[in-house]
Amino acid sequence: MGHAAGKDLYRRLGEKVDGLSCRAPWNETLREILKGLYSEEEADLLVRMPAGASTIGRLVEAAGLPDARLRTLLEGMAAKGLVVDLCLDGESYFMPAPMVIGFFEFTMMRSGVADVKRLSRLFHDYIEEGGGFYQANFGAGEKVSVMRALPHEEAFRPEVGMEVLDYEKASAIVSAADKAAMGACACRHKARHLGLKPCSVPPGVCTSFGYAADFLIRRGLAREASKREVRDALARSRDLGLVLNADNVRRNVTFICHCCKCCCMALRGIAKHGYPNAVMSSSFICEVAEDRCSGCGACVSACPISAMSLAPRPAVEREALVAEVDQTTCLGCGVCVMKCRDCAASLARRGKRVIHPETTFRKIILGCLERGTLQNQLFAEPGNIGQDFMRAAVGAFLGLSPVKRALMSDALRSVFLKAVEAGARLKGQGWATEL
Ligand code: SF4
Ligand code: SF4
Ligand code: SF4
Repeated sequence: MGHAAGKDLYRRLGEKVDGLSCRAPWNETLREILKGLYSEEEADLLVRMPAGASTIGRLVEAAGLPDARLRTLLEGMAAKGLVVDLCLDGESYFMPAPMVIGFFEFTMMRSGVADVKRLSRLFHDYIEEGGGFYQANFGAGEKVSVMRALPHEEAFRPEVGMEVLDYEKASAIVSAADKAAMGACACRHKARHLGLKPCSVPPGVCTSFGYAADFLIRRGLAREASKREVRDALARSRDLGLVLNADNVRRNVTFICHCCKCCCMALRGIAKHGYPNAVMSSSFICEVAEDRCSGCGACVSACPISAMSLAPRPAVEREALVAEVDQTTCLGCGVCVMKCRDCAASLARRGKRVIHPETTFRKIILGCLERGTLQNQLFAEPGNIGQDFMRAAVGAFLGLSPVKRALMSDALRSVFLKAVEAGARLKGQGWATEL
C-alpha cells in the first residue's frame, strides 16, 4: 500500500471523520488533534475503511494490507479508541470511531495518553471555541442527538401515578443490561487538564452497558462494574443534582452519563452555546403549580441549563416571585423537581410526542440524514467507482431540504427506516439493524 501522505493525508482523514455520524468541520485545530492521535499508517487505513462495520476480510480488500499487518494496526487503533470493534456470534467487526461519541471520549477515558494536556486543550478549543462543531451538528435545528435526558425516577411523585416506560427509567435500563462498565468521565477529565475549577463529581462515573461495555472493558477503557455499583452511582448523581443523559435509543441503551453543568460539553452546548438540541429532551417537561410556588429559587439554582427563572407574579397576593419554565429548552430531567420542597415543580408528559429512535441503527440513520452524511453509510466503500457515484448522487438528493423534511416527517420516517433496514439485510448486515 502506498501512503497517501503527499495528498495531505490528515486533510483526507478530516473529511472522512466529518462524514461519519457526528460532523467535525475542518480547521487547523482538527488537524492537530488528528495528528496527535493517528500515525500516518493509521490515518491511511482509516481513510480506506468503509464508514460502517466491516469484517477483517472486507478490510483486507479495502485497505490492500496483508492480513497480519491489518490486524496489528486495528488492535492498536481499537486500544486507542480510534476504531470500535464488536464481537457478535464469533465474528469481529471494526468501524471508524466518530469524534463524538467516539475518539474524543475514548481518548479522555484512557490512562497514560501522551500529551494529554495538549490534547485536552485542542479538544476544548475545537469543540467549544469557535470551531463550528455545535453549529455543524445542531445549527439547522437537527433533532436527533446522541443523548437524551433521562428523568430521575425520584422526580415523579407517587401520588400522581405517572406512566413511565421502561426505556425512560434508569433502574429498568440497569436491570436489563447483560454487562455494565464504569470509566473516567471524558468531559471532567478534559476540564481537569485545562486547569478549570475542580468539579466535585467523582471522575469515574461514566456508565455503559451491553456491547458498548464489552468494547470498553476489552480495550481497557473502562472497568467491569456490578449492577449494584451502577445503582449506587445513580443514587449519588441524584443527590448531587446531576442530569442523567442516556443513549438516545429505546432498545439496548448503551450508556448513561452523569452530567454536571460545569464540565459536560453537551449541557454546555445548550446553556453556554445556545444549541437546545445538543441533548434530546425526555418525553416530560417541568410544570410549576403557581399556587404552591414560594418563589424560593431552589429550582433556578438546580437547573443545569438555566431553563428555570423567577418572574414577578402578575398580581401580588403572597410571594412576589414565581418560578417559570422555558418550555423550548427544558429537558425534562427532573433535577429541579427534586429540589422543590413545596412540591410546586413536577414532571408532566409533553403535549407533543417526543420520538426517540428505537435502535442504534435507526439513531445513526436519522442523525446522518439530518446532518447530510447518510450517503456515506448507504454507499460505504471508498474507492469503489459505482459506490462513489451513488454516494455523490444520493448525497445531493438527500441534501435537498424538502427531501430531508419529508423523510423525517411522521408520515414517511417509519417507511423510510424500514426500507434502509431491508437494504442492510440484503447486504448481509441484518445484525446491525438489531443493535
Ligand atoms: S457527557 Fe456527562 S458523564 Fe458523559 S463524559 Fe460528558 S460530562 Fe461526563
Ligand atoms: S423550588 Fe419550587 S417553590 Fe421554589 S421557586 Fe422553584 S417551583 Fe417555586
Ligand atoms: S427546568 Fe427542571 S426539568 Fe427542565 S431542564 Fe431544568 S432542571 Fe431539568
